[in-house]
Amino acid sequence: DPACAEPLAVLGRDVTVPLVTGGEVTYAALDYAASAPALQRVWDDVAAYAPYYGSVHRGAGYLSQLSTDLFEQSRVTVAEFLDCRPTDQVVFTRSTTDSLNLLAAVLPADCQVFVFETEHHASLLPWADARVTYLNAPRTPAEAVATLERALADRDPYGPALVCVTGASNVTGELWPVRELAAAAHAHGARIVLDAAQLAPHHPVSVQELDVDWVAFSGHKLYAPFGSGVLAGRADWLQEAEPYLAGGGASRKVARREDGGVDVEWHTTAARHEAGSPNVIGVYSIASACKALTEAGFEHLVARERHLIAKVREGLAEVPAVRILSLFGDDAPRVGVISFVVDGWNSSHFAAALSAEYGIGVRDGLFCAHPLVRTLLGSEPQAQGECGAPEAAPGERSLNAIRVSFGAGTPDEHVERFVRAVK
Ligand code: PMP
Repeated sequence: DPACAEPLAVLGRDVTVPLVTGGEVTYAALDYAASAPALQRVWDDVAAYAPYYGSVHRGAGYLSQLSTDLFEQSRVTVAEFLDCRPTDQVVFTRSTTDSLNLLAAVLPADCQVFVFETEHHASLLPWADARVTYLNAPRTPAEAVATLERALADRDPYGPALVCVTGASNVTGELWPVRELAAAAHAHGARIVLDAAQLAPHHPVSVQELDVDWVAFSGHKLYAPFGSGVLAGRADWLQEAEPYLAGGGASRKVARREDGGVDVEWHTTAARHEAGSPNVIGVYSIASACKALTEAGFEHLVARERHLIAKVREGLAEVPAVRILSLFGDDAPRVGVISFVVDGWNSSHFAAALSAEYGIGVRDGLFCAHPLVRTLLGSEPQAQGECGAPEAAPGERSLNAIRVSFGAGTPDEHVERFVRAVK
């Protein structure tokens, strides 16, 4: 039964943590939406490569050449993983946040941007200097498409435009109608970037099938370590703009001018936006994770995750005080990310109790998606800190939420313990 098999092993499964009630317990990492544990396979690949690592694009020595080959081969692996068009470029960045800020930095002049208020702040905020239209939270996928179409119909039809949309919400786990939104964008002459930070770890992402112009995701949510991310897609806007970072690696030729200044010829490949010594371990890890997920087969990963989602939702449904947060309703397709509040509980205290009494790691707060969580809670919480948890007195109505999230390598026992603890 593919729903019961765990196709991939992750690190950290035998880590034990102390309980306030005494003794210790193996840690149940149920905060994959923040950062997933690394795959054992990624760890093994990195360990095998580590003695050989050298500077990328900078040395004639054997190890530099080897590292350069692995780095460039990683680009090909990521392009295959995302089913990119042959002319697309894969730029390695630090994270999804970095990828979307890079795209924001290369927008053509006068580019209009359309973004739903329900986005993660990484998708919501990089466009501050462009002409942004914030779209109201839709309550169905069809309403999302209709809302975008209406907004695009009103836009200046001659200027460039970009739509930024998430593939799977980091709050509700719900899947967004990316293909339909892309069709709407293109029908109105706009382009679209997919924030796949939460989608790529759980579902295959095909740039060509979805017909999106760019995709962004982070290594640390895709079972690789921190510090590397991807922006993949159309080359033209990337290559027509100034480099995101100026420096070595991005420049092909630099020469003093007679007037005393400096002339620079920038690369027209992905390297244009990758100045500085690249994070070869991070990039190699992403490629290793892409290969491992592809080899395990997303059909198995999805089936396994559905089984875990059902366990959590059925378990939570037996607790009358629990309210699951959802934009699109109970039947909406989703990934293994579920946020909820518990009547009579402050969410931060609840999450702290799950950790201290049961060794379960979840997230509480507004999940860097303040407008969305406000809409879902129907409240106006006072945010403390960028992604933080606003305080409510014990017993007060919750002003923030609890999020449980899981994926490859999550054993049944972790979600069973979670449901038991909530009960
Ligand atoms: N988009 C979404 C949907 C996310 O969930 C996150 C991370 N929580 C990001 C973007 C930002 O990712 P990172 O912190 O790796 O830049």
